[in-house]
Amino acid sequence: MAEYKWIDHTYDVVVVGAGGSGLRAALGASQAGLKTACITKVFPTRSHTVAAQGGISASLGNMGEDDWRWHMYDTVKGSDWLGDQDAIEYLCREAPAAVYELEHWGVPFSRTEDGKIYQRAFGGMTKNYGEGPVQRTCAAADRTGHAILHTLYGQSVRNETEFFIEYFALDLIMDDDGVCRGITAWKLDDGTLHRFRAQTVVLATGGYGRAYFSATSAHTCTGDGNAMVLRAGLPLQDMEFVQFHPTGIYGAGCLITEGARGEGGYLTNSNGERFMERYAPSAKDLASRDVVSRSMTMEIREGRGVGANGDHIHLHLDHLDPDILGERLPGISESARVFAGVDVTKEPIPVLPTVHYNMGGIPTNYHGEVLTKVGGDADTVVPGLMAVGEAACVSVHGANRLGSNSLIDLVVFGRAAGLRLGETTKAGASQPEIKSTDGQLSLDRLDKYRNAAGGTPTAKLRLEMQRSMQNNCAVFRTGDVLAEGVEAIKQVYTGMADIGVTDRTMVWNTDLMETLEMDNLLSQAAVTVNGAANREESRGAHAREDFSDRDDENWMKHTLAWCDEAGNVKIDYRPVHTYTMSNDIEYIKPKARVY
Ligand SMILES: Cc1cc2nc3c(=O)[nH]c(=O)nc-3n(C[C@H](O)[C@H](O)[C@H](O)COP(=O)(O)OP(=O)(O)OC[C@H]3O[C@@H](n4cnc5c(N)ncnc54)[C@H](O)[C@@H]3O)c2cc1C
Repeated sequence: MAEYKWIDHTYDVVVVGAGGSGLRAALGASQAGLKTACITKVFPTRSHTVAAQGGISASLGNMGEDDWRWHMYDTVKGSDWLGDQDAIEYLCREAPAAVYELEHWGVPFSRTEDGKIYQRAFGGMTKNYGEGPVQRTCAAADRTGHAILHTLYGQSVRNETEFFIEYFALDLIMDDDGVCRGITAWKLDDGTLHRFRAQTVVLATGGYGRAYFSATSAHTCTGDGNAMVLRAGLPLQDMEFVQFHPTGIYGAGCLITEGARGEGGYLTNSNGERFMERYAPSAKDLASRDVVSRSMTMEIREGRGVGANGDHIHLHLDHLDPDILGERLPGISESARVFAGVDVTKEPIPVLPTVHYNMGGIPTNYHGEVLTKVGGDADTVVPGLMAVGEAACVSVHGANRLGSNSLIDLVVFGRAAGLRLGETTKAGASQPEIKSTDGQLSLDRLDKYRNAAGGTPTAKLRLEMQRSMQNNCAVFRTGDVLAEGVEAIKQVYTGMADIGVTDRTMVWNTDLMETLEMDNLLSQAAVTVNGAANREESRGAHAREDFSDRDDENWMKHTLAWCDEAGNVKIDYRPVHTYTMSNDIEYIKPKARVY
């Protein structure tokens, strides 16, 4: 093995990730007086949060009456009763304050006539416990994520968070007692290697959409933190629940926000029929995402898809006032022109359900502390480790996330993590010395791939994995198709032994970085497809044709999945929290989920 040297750093808190959740957590830790580092593989304002379009949910009630209890009810129902209701209560209660905080920090929200924050309708968001749509999603035109991310970055710099930009985090440093002591990272632009010692590491590394062939998420969304957790011998939770967004642009996969339907857009099949009226008579095009994605897939399967191959669906905005489109949906009007060659004021947009969000991730409580199962205790806190954002599974989204509930998750739980750190961490407290062996495993892994001399390029193997996931673990699933998927992912694991990297340098070696990301994606693909094969029911985004009903008696529980180096997955469970956080509101009992 080549000679490698570490450069060591010490912080109270190290946040990995500078998306909305990482920045909010880092900002909170800095404000609590803790010496805080934020490490990110891309420039902060290029994190995937920048691409969020439609908005951020909070029951402000600016466009008619609203109530956090209604938001809670919608989120529980959206989650198909897999969400933990203590965490959902926390999310919905804290949401309005979190949005006002963003407003005061400078987020340029769109405004109503009388100067309040503009709110639009979104799927599954209702008033009075399911009685009809409510306008709850706060928006900055269709560039809400952009506005939030830039504001949070400015505020973190102002509060003296120290940034390590274009550092690629490799692995957690765990001690023998299972305590997290820090992380290792590779500085991409000069090839140096770094160990960051910290009292607490916060993983905010986002989702892993790129395990699939067609995804709305950025190429950077490779779930690196999730994979670090698996390599540390800890479990991930509910990874079989993958959200398909109904309206990715056909072919390109770029997103057309649900806000387009919130502003009055609708879907049609090849007969020109507004088919959602048949599947969801009351919510129609604004039913939750899993329901709309399945309905579209049914239409295509039954021969009513549009286009030469009958393999997609039309989204109409052409009946809407062009001025409104220009003001509220300028970004997607441009995306439709660039990626589909469509003028939205005149023609429908060709769309298809596309992988969009990961409900599963690193199990945490609502303070952001990472959990694992030890003996019978499924709520054992892992000392020194927290997780927030799409990487985490709190779980507020359960089996299906409602649109605009992720951005609010980022800031509410990012803030909660900062508050918790303020309570539990003493600035400058002494930490155990870094041992010479700390980080050795990450060096071995880096060196192995850097010198990998096999005959298979990373891109080829990655494509195999992405296609298997797309074909075998999609909107509709059956036992046979999933078993094939489990086998296909095993094959990709075998293929990793023959991987070949051509660049041997340490400076801007994107070949090596993509290989490390591929390795990260693969373990997540394994737990996703194995979890899906294991769960014999249909719930939220997980629709089994061979087990078409929700089975609360046997399956109202979270999946925990561990994965070893060879891709063998071990599964166990955690109970769903069937209690709320306070005495102000009762547990919402399961019932059939119709829209
Ligand atoms: C196109 C699109 C539109 C969306 N629109 C909405 C919307 O309107 N409303 C809504 O609620 N949700 C929306 N979502 C979902 C939401 O935007 C995401 O779930 C959320 O932004 C994820 O934020 P995050 O902080 O968890 O991670 P991200 O924003 O994905 O950031 C991840 C961070 O981790 C860093 N990182 C990752 N790996 C490493 C590593 N190995 N080393 C160092 N750093 C690393 C990255 O550099 C980055 O800074 C949308 C998603 C997409 C893809």
